[in-house]
Amino acid sequence: MSSKTYKAKTCAYCGVPGASTTADHVFAREFFLTERRSNIPKVPACKACNEDKARLEFYLTGVLPFGGRHPDARVNLSTMLPKRLAKNASLGPVLRAGMSPVWVPDPSGLLLRTSMITIDAEKLELWCRLLIKGLAYHHWKTVLGDDCFFEFLVPTPGGESIINGLLGKRGAARVKASIGEGTFAYEGLQGADNPHVTAWRLQLYGGLQLGGQDPRIRSGSIGVLTGPRHVQQSADLAAKWLNGRGTC
Ligand SMILES: [Zn+2]
Repeated sequence: MSSKTYKAKTCAYCGVPGASTTADHVFAREFFLTERRSNIPKVPACKACNEDKARLEFYLTGVLPFGGRHPDARVNLSTMLPKRLAKNASLGPVLRAGMSPVWVPDPSGLLLRTSMITIDAEKLELWCRLLIKGLAYHHWKTVLGDDCFFEFLVPTPGGESIINGLLGKRGAARVKASIGEGTFAYEGLQGADNPHVTAWRLQLYGGLQLGGQDPRIRSGSIGVLTGPRHVQQSADLAAKWLNGRGTC
């Protein structure tokens, strides 16, 4: 597709018609190894949204591989991150500030001292919000604008069953994809009655160990629920779905 396809279109992130100036990769290329970048979805984006997202991705492409289970996350850290650190003097201090020493048992039971990185939850959430907007636009041409709420489900085993319950409902459209041979994977469902009602499961780098050493937070998926603000009380909405009393 030529770059023209992405100009003067609705920005997938802010929803302003005719505002787009560029094609934005919904998942920044830097998250993936060079040979795994062929199927990253692209959407039209305005300059401001593209720059906001790039700022979040500058940080997240540095920290997320530390929490990932996918083998590429490790390769990314050993091959791509050193190059980025050499190029961007500002990234090193950010990463070091988030590092804390932890002891983890290896398979033989021996305790090894390693580092754990703290991920800025606010930045992760802002980025996930843009990601979901990008995916809804890419797959369904649906703009999840400022009139939509976003609810994030913490990846406890309980949160996991809620999102599984939502994704199992009847809907107007369903999508399931893997980007970069499983580096990232996602599943989404669009409600039957309202296109802004959507439920998602994101799995980044095979599942981030977001809970660190907290045994209550084992799962690595992130669940996201969206809907029009006038339906708000998203907790009520989720409860309704779960109890089988509402359709999406
Ligand atoms: Zn925009």
